Amino acid sequence: MAADAPADLSAPMEPLLRLEEARDRMLSGVEPLPAETVALRAALGRVLAEPLVALVTMPPWDNSAMDGFAVRAEDVAAASGAQPVRLRVVGEVAAGHVPRETLEPGTAIRILTGGMIPRGADAIVPVEDTDAPRGVSERPSEVRVFGAAVAGTHVRRAGSDVTAGEPILDTGRILGPAQLALAAATGHARFSVHRRPRVAVLATGDELVAPGEPLAGAHIHDSNSVSIAAQALSAGAEVIDLGIALDVEKAVRNKLVEGVERADIIVASGGVSVGAHDVVKDAFEAIGTLDLWRVAVQPGKPVAFGRAPRRDGSGDVLFFGLPGNPVSSFVTFELFVRPVLRRLAGHTGSIGRPTVRAMLTADVSKAPGRRAFLRVQLEEDPARPGSWLATLAGGQGSHVLSALADADGLAIIPEEVDSLPAGSVVDVLRLD
Ligand code: AMP
Ligand code: MG
Repeated sequence: MAADAPADLSAPMEPLLRLEEARDRMLSGVEPLPAETVALRAALGRVLAEPLVALVTMPPWDNSAMDGFAVRAEDVAAASGAQPVRLRVVGEVAAGHVPRETLEPGTAIRILTGGMIPRGADAIVPVEDTDAPRGVSERPSEVRVFGAAVAGTHVRRAGSDVTAGEPILDTGRILGPAQLALAAATGHARFSVHRRPRVAVLATGDELVAPGEPLAGAHIHDSNSVSIAAQALSAGAEVIDLGIALDVEKAVRNKLVEGVERADIIVASGGVSVGAHDVVKDAFEAIGTLDLWRVAVQPGKPVAFGRAPRRDGSGDVLFFGLPGNPVSSFVTFELFVRPVLRRLAGHTGSIGRPTVRAMLTADVSKAPGRRAFLRVQLEEDPARPGSWLATLAGGQGSHVLSALADADGLAIIPEEVDSLPAGSVVDVLRLD
């Protein structure tokens, strides 16, 4: 619809779009954002845009896996509790120090975990298998060994983790704490990752005041901007707060123009339904093109989506108009915005939430013709370990935030049915 042809709200409504069709249209043409180089500590949750190879071998040299004594295995091959072997202690190697001594037959070198294996030694006897004092202590001049060792006992071999030049993390890998540790250990301090999507968040409604502000008259707190910003952050985005716009087309349009200048995606909430003050679609159509409006989901039917060109010609900014009811805004973000953000952030695998199968513990009902997402709590079925039970988290009205805060998941009830009996097994989108 063009700006000069506003929606004719008296015309019959188009049939609702199926969820998958709506999502496909939203994802069409969405590509990972360009790469940028970031430091390790800024990379948590990012997606690698280049393959990484180990720059150093790990461990770089043979070292001890235990606190104890570096020995020649042949010296202690027959050691036991009954027949201890006595060795002279000629030196010590702590982690971070190059051994000074070479091990001669009949001697031992005290060694700490991570210490470099001295020349001449080929095994470690843990301190627990000796009569040496444990913990912080003077180095003894002699040690009695109560346990036998063979060559290689408690020795961590050079390269037993990774070898320099070996591929460690491929393009598209999500960098969690473990992947970052591996990159750091193998010599990386900076690398190339996809840029985070920038999400501009706008609340619309005359009734809204910022959280923490006193409520007067007919005011309520803007909670959607809080959930949307948090959902965007947890999907790997950066957030730009556009604040609150009154239900006035010009006011909303000005905020959207600001969003187009600053963001990759604008997520507005409220004002997309058929009410007399629902100006968001009109405001958007003044600066861009609405691609779709109204999807067969419950809650969240009036969700709107479109694109607006940037003024500098560098492509389009995506626009999501989420319904104002807090649960509708939350659910439609999970269903539609999160996959787009994850695709932009470079995720190649799953871009939606994972699902589990769970058995409903009570009868449920819903509107026919729409796929419902019911707030549920998940718990393991005591009668069937490994299987899940889904219990309604509370009232399912789209304003009931308390039930959303109590929910672990959204039980998916198909379009075709208007009720399901207790005991039915359904898919549940996990929210954790
Ligand atoms: P709307 O979609 O604008 O018709 O709003 C539907 C319902 O959601 C109304 O009860 C609004 O007061 C409420 N609502 C809209 N925006 C927000 C928001 N940002 N935070 C909390 N509630 C909202
Ligand atoms: Mg409103």
